[in-house]
Parts: sequence; structure tokens; C-alpha cells
Amino acid sequence: MPRKFPLERTRNIGIMAHIDAGKTTTTERILFYTGVSHKIGETHEGGATMDWMEQEKERGITITSAATTCQWNNNRINIIDTPGHVDFTVEVERSLRVLDGAVAVFCAKGGVEPQSENVWRQADKYRVPRIAFVNKMDILGADFYNVVQMMKDRLGANAVPVQLPIGKEETFEGIIDLIEMNARMYRDDLGQNIEIVDIPEDMMDLAQEWREKLVEAAAETDEELMMRYLDGEELTKEEIKAAIRKAVIACEMNPVFCGSAYKNKGVQLMLDGVVDYMPAPTDIPAIKGILPNGEEAERHSCDEEPFSALAFKIMADPFVGKLAFFRVYSGVLNSGSYVLNATKNKKERIGRILQMHANSREEIGEVYAGDIAAAVGLKDTTTGDTLCDPAHPIILESMEFPEPVISVAIEPKSKAAQEKMGIALQRLAEEDPTFRVRTDEETGQTIIAGMGELHLEIIVDRLLREFKVEANVGAPQVAYRETITKAVDVEHKYSKQSGGRGQYGHVKIRVMPQEPGAGYEFVNKVVGGAIPKEYIGPVD
Ligand code: GDP
Repeated sequence: MPRKFPLERTRNIGIMAHIDAGKTTTTERILFYTGVSHKIGETHEGGATMDWMEQEKERGITITSAATTCQWNNNRINIIDTPGHVDFTVEVERSLRVLDGAVAVFCAKGGVEPQSENVWRQADKYRVPRIAFVNKMDILGADFYNVVQMMKDRLGANAVPVQLPIGKEETFEGIIDLIEMNARMYRDDLGQNIEIVDIPEDMMDLAQEWREKLVEAAAETDEELMMRYLDGEELTKEEIKAAIRKAVIACEMNPVFCGSAYKNKGVQLMLDGVVDYMPAPTDIPAIKGILPNGEEAERHSCDEEPFSALAFKIMADPFVGKLAFFRVYSGVLNSGSYVLNATKNKKERIGRILQMHANSREEIGEVYAGDIAAAVGLKDTTTGDTLCDPAHPIILESMEFPEPVISVAIEPKSKAAQEKMGIALQRLAEEDPTFRVRTDEETGQTIIAGMGELHLEIIVDRLLREFKVEANVGAPQVAYRETITKAVDVEHKYSKQSGGRGQYGHVKIRVMPQEPGAGYEFVNKVVGGAIPKEYIGPVD
């Protein structure tokens, strides 16, 4: 069967935001407007993400998922979940690895907060093209222009408004489109009654001024356009849009949109922006990898090359068991076929392939280059593994997983739950490459290790909620505190295939004597997973 969506009409995006900026609400509205969600849920009270998880359980359907597929104007948009919490920067990194572009949601009042800065820098590191959505234009203290300025000052972003808000706080009632030079007036809070009108008279000068800035920023991306612009020639809308798109994909511009997700204003226009300015898989550079003989190779986003994919999230699913979310970089994969997990050097059978929508899951027969889907039946696959055509083995450039920095002893409140706890912990460790479980040889205690106290708290909470195991934990011990006393640089090229992860590739690491818990710093990317143990202390 041929592919339903040409690659050019596919967008793999993430939505990144500081907690409370409105990521959940915005995502929910996207799913609503793209027609896959039937009800606008209430996330106004309390912890929004949790609400979703509870709702999901109650209704027994997938709303939040590692990746959700929806359609907008005949485009397929895959939304990859990017966790918002600062403690899970590793999770953020691994989702950034598989997406092609992101919508950064900012609160119109708070603007750029320290946490948004963190995520923004990570996205810079992975060169993720971004558009910005200034949300909550309806709240007291909302200031669009201030957020744009903060993006420039704090993030060093080339933030260029493509819209202006009409009114703010209670009077936020519309949006000016600086390319079309018209306005949308929202006549209700449900986003149902929208009128396209002329730009209000009293805003015309301001709109002209910002349009000039936009056109100039667009022209700057292209010498020929710049000449024509300087000659006073009028650039067409299409030319301006094409220039913005090019600049965004090159990570040189961040168009800024505005709205209020909660009041159903601006989300559809921002979705148009995703289609207009976010890259398709064909717009991104080929992914690099390493062949079994140690040579470097590339895989391009096209169906004709051998199949290659990265598993980016493992989830325990109540209906089908273990789900492995993966992004296809090249080639085609059919359900029922065998793949090579090149990282583990194991052949595995893909039982079924699923695509997740807001309230349904669809079984599909095949996936193509650029797609994102979930596989059922991959027993040995963990996050970060490369899946590929067994006849064309390759290990793709992977993600960095630092070693856990904190460990605690854990025991079930009731001795009878010991075995159940063990199974549950193993399951959680499969999902999360920065979470480890081991048994202490001397004391026989179960020790869990993770990225911080909050990380382990969430694990204990999940044990209770998802596995009904109540557990006590001991005082945290910080790993490596005693062992690292001075900085050492280690560099090594290796290609040993046995022994699982971290045995394959090129690594350069600076081990730092840092604050307890800070661990070490990567100088280079690690290909294939964790740092080999021998490079981590003791030094002295
Ligand atoms: P997240 O933590 O980024 O996922 O943020 P949520 O989507 O859960 O939003 C946090 C809170 O802000 C919730 O109470 C939302 O209802 C509220 N909220 C989100 N977007 C808006 C908005 O545009 N306007 C207003 N007034 N409230 C909003």
C-alpha cells in the first residue's frame, strides 16, 4: 500500500513549555481542533498533566501518549510528548532527538522563566527549529511585547512576531495577521464565532510597523530578496512565508504567535503556522550512524533506503503490554516482519504497529520514513536502541543517558509484595534509561537509582498507583560524591558489540569534581548509550 501522506505533508513536532504556561491546554485544543478529540476537557483545576492521566484511566483510552497523531488541513502532525519538568531533562532530550520542530509555549505574563530557558538551550543544542506561542493573553498582566523582548534578551532568540494581539487581559478579543494584514475577531470564548475583518483603525500604524520588521527579517535570509526589499519592491505573501520557513528551518528565526488556549483563541492559526513553518522530515539533514565495521554512514528520510529507526520511549500499556515508540528515519517497516535491534544485536519480531490518536489507537500495516508509531512485541528493546533492517545493520546516533546520581534502598510495606515490587521496578526500568534497580550484595536490599529525589518520588508514587505496591524508601545516597576529586578527560574509540549498551562508538568524557549529585559532564556525544564504567572514578 502506498503511503497516505507524502513526507512533505508530515510534521513531527513537540510542544515545550515551562510548567503552567499552558502546554496541556494547548495540546488539548490542538487535538480538539484537529478533530480527534471529542470533548474539551477541563484542565483548569489542579495539576493538569495528572488530570489527563486520571482521565485516561477512567475512560480507558489514550489521550496522553508518547506520540499522538492528528491531521490539520491535509497534513499529518505527530505530536511528541516533551515532559516539562526540569528534573527530567533527560526525557526532554530524548524527545527532542526524534522531533523535527517545536512549539514553545510561553505565558503572556511570566514570559521566559528559568525553566523555559533550560529547555530552550537543550533545543538549541539539538538544533530544533521553533515557533513561539504566547499563551494566556487573557490573563491579568499579559504583555505580548514584553515576552517577545524577553525571548530576545534571555534566550538570544530572533523572535519575530507574525501576529499581534488585539486587546489584552479581559479585552483580548482578536489577532492581527501581519502577513495577510487582516484581523480575526473572536466573538465568543468557544472559538466558534470567528470573524475575519480589517485591522482596527487605531492599530494600523502599529501593524504597519511590525509588518515592516517581519518583512525585513524575512528578506535578511536571502540576498536576492534583500536587494528587492531595499529597492522598495513589495514582496509577495508567498515569498515572505517561504523566506520565514527557510529561516526557521535553519534555526535562524522564531516566528511568534499569540492567543489564549483556554479561551480558544489563536490555536488554529498557530497550527497553520506549524504547517507553514515547521520542517517536514525531508527538510532535515540525514541522520548519522555507525556500521558494524566502525565506519560512519548516513540514512536519509526516504522510503527507498534500508529501514532504520530509533526507539524513543517504552511504555507499559494496559491493553497490549509493552509498547515501544519509535521514529522511522529511513525505509519502510511492515508489521509481522523482523528487525535487528542493532544496539543489543538481537533480532526481534514486530507483532503489531499502532498509531495513537487522541481517543483511539489505529492498527497499521506499515510505517514509512519520517513516521512515528508504536510497536508491540519488542521484548528486548529499551529507550535509545536502534532498530534496523537485519540485512543492513547500523547504529544511529543515539541519545545521551547520564548515569543516575542518587540511590535509595526500597522495600515493600508488606513482605508479601516483594516479588511484585521487583517485577514492577523492572518494568519501570525498561521504560526509563536513567532509572536503575539492583540488589545490594551485602545486605540483600533492593536499591533504586535515579536522577534526583523527585525522580525517585515519582517512581514510588507510580509503584503505588499503577502496581498497587506500597513501599518505604531509605535516605538518599548521592552517587560518585566520594569518588570524583579532580577533572579528568578520557577519550576512547571502541566497537565492541557484545555486552549490550555502551560498548560501541566514540566517547569523550570529562569527569568533573562537582557538587554532590552533579556527576560528570559530557564533552562529546556518546554513541550507543551509557559511559563505560571504567571511565568513572575513582580518581585518586
Ligand atoms: P502546563 O503545566 O503547561 O501543561 O499548563 P496547563 O495547560 O495545565 O495550564 C495551567 C493552568 O493555566 C490551568 O489551570 C489552565 O486552565 C490555565 N490556562 C492554560 N491556558 C490558559 C489561557 O490561555 N488562559 C487562562 N486564563 N488560563 C489558561
